[in-house]
Amino acid sequence: MKITAIEAFAAAIPVRPEMAIKSSRVHHRISPFALVRVDTDAGLSGVGEATTMPNWSGETSSTACSIIREILAPALLEQDPLDGVRLDAIMDKAVNHNWFTKAAIEMACWDIRGKAENRPVYELLGGPCRSRTIPARFSMAAYDPATAAVKAVERVGWGFTTIKIKVGTDPEQDIARVRAVREAVGPEIAIMVDANCGWDAQTAIRCCHALEDCNLSLVEQPTPDGDYAALARVRREITPPVMADDMCFDLIHARELIRHQACDVISVYPGKNGGIRKSAEIVQLAAEHGVACSIGSNLEWDVATAAMGHLVIGLENMQVEKFPGDILGPWYHADRIVKQPLLIDRAACTIPNAPGLGIEVDWEKLKRYQT
Ligand SMILES: [Mg+2]
Repeated sequence: MKITAIEAFAAAIPVRPEMAIKSSRVHHRISPFALVRVDTDAGLSGVGEATTMPNWSGETSSTACSIIREILAPALLEQDPLDGVRLDAIMDKAVNHNWFTKAAIEMACWDIRGKAENRPVYELLGGPCRSRTIPARFSMAAYDPATAAVKAVERVGWGFTTIKIKVGTDPEQDIARVRAVREAVGPEIAIMVDANCGWDAQTAIRCCHALEDCNLSLVEQPTPDGDYAALARVRREITPPVMADDMCFDLIHARELIRHQACDVISVYPGKNGGIRKSAEIVQLAAEHGVACSIGSNLEWDVATAAMGHLVIGLENMQVEKFPGDILGPWYHADRIVKQPLLIDRAACTIPNAPGLGIEVDWEKLKRYQT
């Protein structure tokens, strides 16, 4: 089989105002992403999504589209879409970084392979290892403490048993926010915090010690990107498990995290990690060293969310039962641009068992949102 065309379409869909995410890094009110279609000489096409946020990975929907049109598509034409190792090598040689852009093409090629073999992607990965209905936590913005408490109670009413609270803003506000949520939801609900690199080691340790009575079940990315020693220090000095997210884009980062014994859990997802195959490599390496993985998110639409779901279902070490991840992106958005949106209900996302990613883009509807 050969790739005959790769097309990229920039589009923007608003986030529902009541669901906007505010963290130490970003106020996410609209999602300007890119959808990708890879066509082949076998008549099969695959779809991918570049979930681009500039203050997260440095990519935008425009950079994704121009890198694909000007560099990656010409380099990949005539290549076999089933040869993932070779496709990745060509993309990595042609363009540095740009994980989300490359992942869009890569997941489209998994979609093609699944359609060619008439199997869902999670089967191609060796699964199913768990239910197709994936539990998720609620990821809550860094609201003021009173608002956070009200919203957390509301989310628990929706069925969430794990609430992730964004911290890493002002330490005193962070502590007050988490404490207010714990008091409001009671002792049974799991509370995680995510600082998105917004603290340093000292601040993280101080905040986590101050929150010891709040019984945190996970502390996500408390320290800055690239500082493995700082994360390892936090892990040694606090009780809750530590998750690495914003500092793990590739296998080398994962190796360094493991070498420094810096974390208990790694947040993995195809967009951030440059594709499904590279994500699976990280999940496998982590498993060999007793480090758990869970699913992270950049507030995807349905296509990239499906890719995430297949990774979770296909790989044993994606331990979402113990560490519920983020896989509800489409639900945050004001509209969906696929024919059969993923079922997202009561704090869980269900992935279809259709061949490939199991998602069909509504290209007509997408036109409304094209930029
Ligand atoms: Mg995170």
